Amino acid sequence: MTAATLPEVHPLLKEFLSRKLHKLLIDGQPVEAASGKTFTTLNPATGETLGVVSEAESADVDRAVVSARKALEGPWSKLSPADREKILHKVADLIEARAEAFAQLETLDNGKPIREAKSGDLPLSAALFRYYGGWPTKLHGETTPVSVPYYPGAKFLHYTVREPVGVVGAIIPWNFPLLMAAERLAPALACGNAIILKPAEQTPLSALWLGELLLEAGVPPGVVNVVPGYGKTAGHAIAAHMGIDKVTFTGSTATGREVVKASAGNMKRVTMELGGKSPNIVFADADMEAAARGMFMGIFYNQGQTCSSGSRVFIERSAHDKLLEALAAKAKTIKQGNPLDPKMAMGPLVSAQQRDRVMSFIESGKAEGANLLAGGSSVAGPGYFVQPTVFGGVKDSMKIAREEIFGPVVSVFPFDTVDEVMTRANDTDYGLVAAVWTKDVKKAHQTAARLKAGTVWINCYQFVDAAAPWGGVKQSGYGREKGQWALENYTSLKSVWVDLN
Ligand code: NAD
Repeated sequence: MTAATLPEVHPLLKEFLSRKLHKLLIDGQPVEAASGKTFTTLNPATGETLGVVSEAESADVDRAVVSARKALEGPWSKLSPADREKILHKVADLIEARAEAFAQLETLDNGKPIREAKSGDLPLSAALFRYYGGWPTKLHGETTPVSVPYYPGAKFLHYTVREPVGVVGAIIPWNFPLLMAAERLAPALACGNAIILKPAEQTPLSALWLGELLLEAGVPPGVVNVVPGYGKTAGHAIAAHMGIDKVTFTGSTATGREVVKASAGNMKRVTMELGGKSPNIVFADADMEAAARGMFMGIFYNQGQTCSSGSRVFIERSAHDKLLEALAAKAKTIKQGNPLDPKMAMGPLVSAQQRDRVMSFIESGKAEGANLLAGGSSVAGPGYFVQPTVFGGVKDSMKIAREEIFGPVVSVFPFDTVDEVMTRANDTDYGLVAAVWTKDVKKAHQTAARLKAGTVWINCYQFVDAAAPWGGVKQSGYGREKGQWALENYTSLKSVWVDLN
């Protein structure tokens, strides 16, 4: 498909993209950065400028905190839980109504295939608002049967109340820009908080547009502030701010460490969703067609730029050669090109920097003697494309086997016994997800129990839902997003004693 025959950009999106400057959203108003600075965001499929964006720094985060604090005391806290539910459902309705335009924006800003944006990012984002839209009326406390040993016979009424944490800072990455924003905003709003959201500098546009949609749905001004900018300035200012009560961070483990350090000043609550190097384990008794699909989807979805990518595939030796061959053959036929074209299964990586980073891992795999079976090159021309790449003959000690690549590069290893593969699968600093493929129910559950990961998929891969918890162990982070568990992150529990004597 040539540029001339690509699908038309949705009229709503055309209008949004025609803005000369995409301003910060503070106190319900589009405002320029205090410094007047701007940065550009690119279409990674072409390298062309997609938009110019105001660049938030610490002075803008200060303004956002003032606005969020004011909003917390204002109409937001006066709304009934039922009213908050209506607003969240309206957000879901509006996202669904504009799904086509938002999907195109995600594809243009991030490079993800439009078919993935439409089937994954958009419905999941709406579902998060729908799911958390049900919670405000169910966030109740409890009564507790207390006993006081130093006051025998005394009677007390004791109850708990769930209150908003206050002002939440959300720092998110570029791989699922709208979805990551929705995953933070929906539960934080359901629990009655105000939020300062910093999208990644590579993909700031959908968060800004979502901020406007929230206002339209009835979220009062100042409750959600969107401050695009760089990590070391805007991100650090959020992590360190004394007026922010909680930070929810998704990104790399190295940055997560910086955020934890910066957040210590006022002891803010922190949740960390970090990187992964996840094992995808195929036993010889598995449904091989399903396993092949799962391996493929596990590594090449979103160009491999998923925290949960199955970047280490372990295949039981008797099935290894055939399955590896099938994976490499399929990787060679994948359609990669302009992601707005619905026929494309893969687009570019998000930036030239990310392409170069991924290519340096591929070069290290070649140099360390791994067996390159498919891909291995970047694609010349505009855009930041890297071929889907399959390495066999990888040693556990190689850099491509140990470090998170965050690109379409898979390392495949044979194994002989269950004990051996469990040890090797767990031999990583990370622990985000893992998968097991087998028809043996006992083996499936036994291995799921032994895998050190926040999520284990059995005979499936890359499944997520608003209702299911998400998070890691070890250096993949702590805390759980999504489901009822995220409500803990965004509420404080108050303990109330009433003397009945
Ligand atoms: P990154 O850590 O470079 O950036 C993430 C965010 O942090 C961005 O908004 C960035 O501007 C900001 N940031 C950077 N430096 C900062 C600092 N010093 N203080 C505060 N904020 C700062 O990560 P990335 O390259 O954007 O995203 C890829 C990483 O995210 C991968 O490691 C991936 O595994 C991880 N990720 C994890 C999950 C999960 O749920 N566990 C989901 C998506 C991505």
